[in-house]
Amino acid sequence: MKKASLVVIGGGILGCSTAYHLAKQGKEDVLLLERRDLATASSSQAAGLMFRISSKPAVDCLSRRTFELLSELEEITGDGLDFKAVGSLRVAESEANKASLLKILNRAGAEGISVETVDRQWRSEMLPWFSAADDALTVFFKEEGYIDSYRLTRAYAKAARLFGVEIKTGVSVRGIRVVNGVVTGVETDQGVVACDSVVVAGGSWSNDLTLPHGIALPMVPTRSHFWIAAAEINFGERQPMMIHGDAGAYTRPEVGGLLLGVQEAHSRTFDYRLLPEDISSFAVTDEGGEWDALIEAEARVSNFFPGLATARFEHYMAGLSAYTPDGHFLLGAAKAVQGVFVAAGCCGSGVMASGGIGDALAELITQGQSQYDLAPFDLQRFGDVAPASEAFQLLCASARARKAK
Ligand SMILES: Cc1cc2nc3c(=O)[nH]c(=O)nc-3n(C[C@H](O)[C@H](O)[C@H](O)COP(=O)(O)OP(=O)(O)OC[C@H]3O[C@@H](n4cnc5c(N)ncnc54)[C@H](O)[C@@H]3O)c2cc1C
Repeated sequence: MKKASLVVIGGGILGCSTAYHLAKQGKEDVLLLERRDLATASSSQAAGLMFRISSKPAVDCLSRRTFELLSELEEITGDGLDFKAVGSLRVAESEANKASLLKILNRAGAEGISVETVDRQWRSEMLPWFSAADDALTVFFKEEGYIDSYRLTRAYAKAARLFGVEIKTGVSVRGIRVVNGVVTGVETDQGVVACDSVVVAGGSWSNDLTLPHGIALPMVPTRSHFWIAAAEINFGERQPMMIHGDAGAYTRPEVGGLLLGVQEAHSRTFDYRLLPEDISSFAVTDEGGEWDALIEAEARVSNFFPGLATARFEHYMAGLSAYTPDGHFLLGAAKAVQGVFVAAGCCGSGVMASGGIGDALAELITQGQSQYDLAPFDLQRFGDVAPASEAFQLLCASARARKAK
């Protein structure tokens, strides 16, 4: 029988970051098992937006670790990550969104984050396609940007290997072995691996592994999607990312064109038990459904992008993110079984927070506590839940709909 001290289940960005941080913090004999290839599920589909500050301070602490890590990973792996530091423009038009953006602005100032309010002239130079109400609040955060999430996942994996982690792809974990409430190993399609603890980082599939042991993770696979418009409109040479709270939408440059992400009024959710192992074979959006979704958002989007009707959309990407009812991650130890740790419930922000999530969980495992505030991410905070039920899916869908607000 094969042995490891700890098995990380899942080779997406959260599993790879956790494996890297565990090894960096001195944990030996770490084995990561991925049933397909690394970064082949959500972690290859993200728009890759990274923010230093948001309306969630506990998330910000995790995200800032990712920013710090970029140069650390480049140095360790010798590979560039090509982070695009274009900055982000946040836009608020309603009084409620202005109040929450002002709060972020004030906090940014106090925390030494570069921030400035910008005027119409600045906006028309940087985002010539963009329109906002005269009294809109527009704030620019210079140090933010976006990254290729596939590349970042691969960098965590390469660094983890260099620090001694064994990574095996093409191995499916069938279940976690538990004796008297304590982890003793994992069963795979290629035999049993004995271990004392596991990190469940199985993305949208995580409940398959935990629920048989009474650990219902309060999260639901929820659709996220974006479109890419061809570079046929003047989108600007130096355009930043743009986040529009009232429209529930974001944009970023994409090879001269425009990537447009839109929150849905009622996000599409899925019963995790029905997901195939290979998500690329799964219709997250039905044939033609991408146009229905864009039409549903048309009024909201054309308000800030008057040229929407003339844009030619040449790509569409739909994938799954696991959402929780409060939009916070699931990060920590399971109470029901000793030795089960979880990094899941990414709520569409797993790329930007990946550094802190891996760092925090590794600290919890190796030292029994973390420097990060993990209380908001407690696995048990909603009590008993039924993650596949319709009522619970609705709760998580509305967390997704509120995301950019
Ligand atoms: C369209 C879209 C846009 C997004 N945009 C952003 C963004 O701008 N910024 C941001 O921060 N985030 C964004 N996200 C979210 C981001 O992609 C996720 O938060 C992140 O990729 C989650 O990583 P993960 O490791 O939890 O999951 P995944 O990448 O899904 O990885 C889970 C892995 O576990 C494996 N696995 C599961 N079960 C088993 C098992 N039993 N045995 C072995 N392996 C198993 C799976 O094969 C999979 O590879 C976006 C997501 C989507 C879909």
